[in-house]
Amino acid sequence: MYEPDLKEVFRGALSPSTPDVHYVTEFRYPERGGFAGFLEGFAAETDLRLGWEVTRIDPVTRQVHMASKPPVAYEHLISSIPLPELIPMIQGVPHDVVEAVGRLAATECVVVNVGIDREDVADTHWTYFYDPEISFARLSYPSRFAPANAPEGTGSFQAEVYFSEKYRPRRHAPGEWIDPVVAHLRKAGLIRDDDEILLTCAWLIPYANIIFDLDRAAALETVHGFLQDVGIRYCGRYALGLPLDGRRLQERRGSGPGGAGLHLHRERSDSLIASVKSD
Ligand SMILES: Cc1cc2nc3c(=O)[nH]c(=O)nc-3n(C[C@H](O)[C@H](O)[C@H](O)COP(=O)(O)OP(=O)(O)OC[C@H]3O[C@@H](n4cnc5c(N)ncnc54)[C@H](O)[C@@H]3O)c2cc1C
Repeated sequence: MYEPDLKEVFRGALSPSTPDVHYVTEFRYPERGGFAGFLEGFAAETDLRLGWEVTRIDPVTRQVHMASKPPVAYEHLISSIPLPELIPMIQGVPHDVVEAVGRLAATECVVVNVGIDREDVADTHWTYFYDPEISFARLSYPSRFAPANAPEGTGSFQAEVYFSEKYRPRRHAPGEWIDPVVAHLRKAGLIRDDDEILLTCAWLIPYANIIFDLDRAAALETVHGFLQDVGIRYCGRYALGLPLDGRRLQERRGSGPGGAGLHLHRERSDSLIASVKSD
């Protein structure tokens, strides 16, 4: 992870052009199975029970109630469920905690996947779009991450369209974002007139990024204080309410800055585009 020094931050804020840097300087990706492939080793050694939906937690009797499964008693409970989902499930939550969790903000992401009959979709791995007229803020090219991600002779785009219940509520079903995304891929010159679209689908990711607004710190303190009081531990991005920031990763992995590969340029439409190359 690349961490800029203060001088670079000032230079970036004040000058029109800056050296090419990006917080990701290198990344690993499994040959098969996507990012989830990294977790297969852990899953094999864990008593993992998927599809157990928690509906209620009673911190007094120390029981977790599930939808269509018998309740489970616990001695210690560690939850990675996003706080806005977790808090309403806990029995006997005080009003000020319910009110505090309602002030926490996160983005919601509609991910639109598009497959076409051409391999050379880009010469980068992902691109940021800082353009209000383009629906997606980030575009990845999964077919470029690993050959097994797409059949030979085809290529793929994965577009991220962001919303927030608090600041930019989503007014359409995820599937309704497919047409605008395809139109904007054409507008940006990434899908050409002679390309055949082989596949489209849309997914909803209800919690994508934490929004650091002025309500966050105080609201988080109230919510975390309550969880401590009732003996429920928490982990994960949407329970800690933190980003996975560079310093924390560096501390954990001991990694330092390396050769960065951010390319900022104006191309195709008149939007500012930032592309990341890992090679
Ligand atoms: C489009 C996108 C791209 C990203 N790309 C990267 C990347 O390249 N690299 C990277 O490091 N990070 C990336 N991230 C961030 C990364 O995905 C998150 O930081 C990570 O998933 C957070 O993990 P988590 O376990 O804290 O939360 P989650 O993965 O959200 O896990 C919370 C879990 O709680 C479950 N849950 C909710 N309610 C209940 C219930 N009632 N009962 C039982 N379970 C419940 C949910 O189903 C979910 O599985 C990306 C995020 C997005 C949105």
